[in-house]
Amino acid sequence: MSSKSKVALVKGADIQEDVTRVFDLLGGVQNLIQKGSVVMLKPNAGHAEPPETSVCTNPEVIRAVIREVKKAEPKEIVIAEAAAIGCDTVECFEVSGIAKMAEEEGVECYDIKRDKDLVNVAVRGYRSNLDHIKLPRRLMEADHLINLPILKAHASMVFSGALKNIKGVVQDKVHMQMHQQNLTMAMMDVWSVCRADLNIMDAYRAASGYSPHMPVPIESNMILGSKDPVAIDRVACEVTGIDTSGVSYFTVAEEAGLGSYSMDQIEVVGQTIEECFKPMWIPYIGDMSKRWPEYDVRCDGACSSCQALLAINMEELKAVGEYDKNAGMTIVAGPKNEVPKDIPDEKIVLHGNCTKKYLKDHPNAYWILGCPPNEPALYLTVQRKETINGMGDQEDEIIRPCMKRDEPVWRDYVFKAAEEYYKEHPESK
Ligand code: SF4
Repeated sequence: MSSKSKVALVKGADIQEDVTRVFDLLGGVQNLIQKGSVVMLKPNAGHAEPPETSVCTNPEVIRAVIREVKKAEPKEIVIAEAAAIGCDTVECFEVSGIAKMAEEEGVECYDIKRDKDLVNVAVRGYRSNLDHIKLPRRLMEADHLINLPILKAHASMVFSGALKNIKGVVQDKVHMQMHQQNLTMAMMDVWSVCRADLNIMDAYRAASGYSPHMPVPIESNMILGSKDPVAIDRVACEVTGIDTSGVSYFTVAEEAGLGSYSMDQIEVVGQTIEECFKPMWIPYIGDMSKRWPEYDVRCDGACSSCQALLAINMEELKAVGEYDKNAGMTIVAGPKNEVPKDIPDEKIVLHGNCTKKYLKDHPNAYWILGCPPNEPALYLTVQRKETINGMGDQEDEIIRPCMKRDEPVWRDYVFKAAEEYYKEHPESK
C-alpha cells in the first residue's frame, strides 16, 4: 500500500458528479463517514459576498457534499463558521447563498462566534504564543470535521486553501491575537488542536487577482479532495500554476507534521495535473525590488505574505491616484534591509512587526504593526501620512470606510488589468 498522501483531482461540468467522484476516489463516503455520526462542514463563509464573487465556498459545492455525506446516514450535518473579524456570520451565510441552500437541504447553519460554550484547549509544542486556544465544545465533540475551502489567491497569505480555511473556527478574540503575531505559526497551532479529517476543495470558479477583497473568478471547474491539508493545497497550487517556492507556510506546515508538501510524497488520483492545468492570474508574486522605480522599496528577508501585501498596496496607490503624489518614499518590509540614516523619517514606512528594529535609527518613521499587517494599512498610511494599522478604533473608523470609498476605483483598476492579462493568456480564463 502506498504511504503517499492521496489527492483526488476531478475536472468536470457537473458539481454533484464531481464531488461524488472525489469521495469515491478517496475510498467512498461509507468508509469515510461513520453511520450515526455528527458531521461538521467548515466552508469559507468569512465575508458577506454573493456566490458569483468566489469569495465564499460555492453553496452548490456544499450542497453536493451534504448530499454525498447523507448517503452514509449520519445523525446530523451542521455547517459551521466564524466569519472574519468585524463580519457577522449570519449575514455571511445569507448573502453567500449558504443559508438558503442549507434550509433546502434541512441542515443547520451554526455561528461559532455566538457560541458561549467554549473549551480552553492546550496547544502542545505551540509555535506562536497561543499556548491555549478557546474553541466551541460543539465543534470539538463532532465526530467528523470536513474542511470545505474555496481555492483563491489571498493578499496576506499569497494563496488560500485547506490550511488557511481552518483559521475560521475561532472567535474574534483569538482571531485578533492570531493577527497580532506570526499568522502562519498561529494557523499551525489552530490546526494542531482542530484537525479536519477530510478536505474537499471548491475550485469550481477559483478566485484569481487581488483576492480576497478584489477577486477575479475563473472557470476552473475542479473539485479536489484529500485527508492531507498540505498535499491538497500543494496540488491546488500546481494545477493553477502558483509557484509554491514563494509560499512560506507550506514549509512550516510540513515541519509541523500536518502533511506532505513534496510532490514525491503525493499521489494524484482521478485526473492528472496536466489534464486539468489552469494557470491563475496572481499579480502580486514576483520580484518586488524593481517593480515600482519611483519608490525606494526595500524588502530583503520579507515573508511571502508581506511581499504580496506590499505589491497590492503599491498598485492600490496607483488605483486611487496617490502613487505619483508620494513618489520618493522608502517602503521597508522584512528584517534584512539597510535603511540609511540620511533618509528623513517622514519619508519611511516600516511594514510589519519585524521592521520595528529600524525605529532605532528612524524613531519617527511610520511603523505599521502586524505579522503580516492589515491588508490596506500600507497604502492608507502613505496616503494619510499617519500610521494606520487597524489597532484601537482604526478598523471601524478608518480602514473599513476607506476601503468602501476606494472600492469602485480599485475594482475598475483590477478588472481592467485582469482583462488585459486574460486577453494575452486566453487559456487561463
Ligand atoms: S512582519 Fe516580518 S515576519 Fe511578519 S510576515 Fe511580514 S515579513 Fe514576515
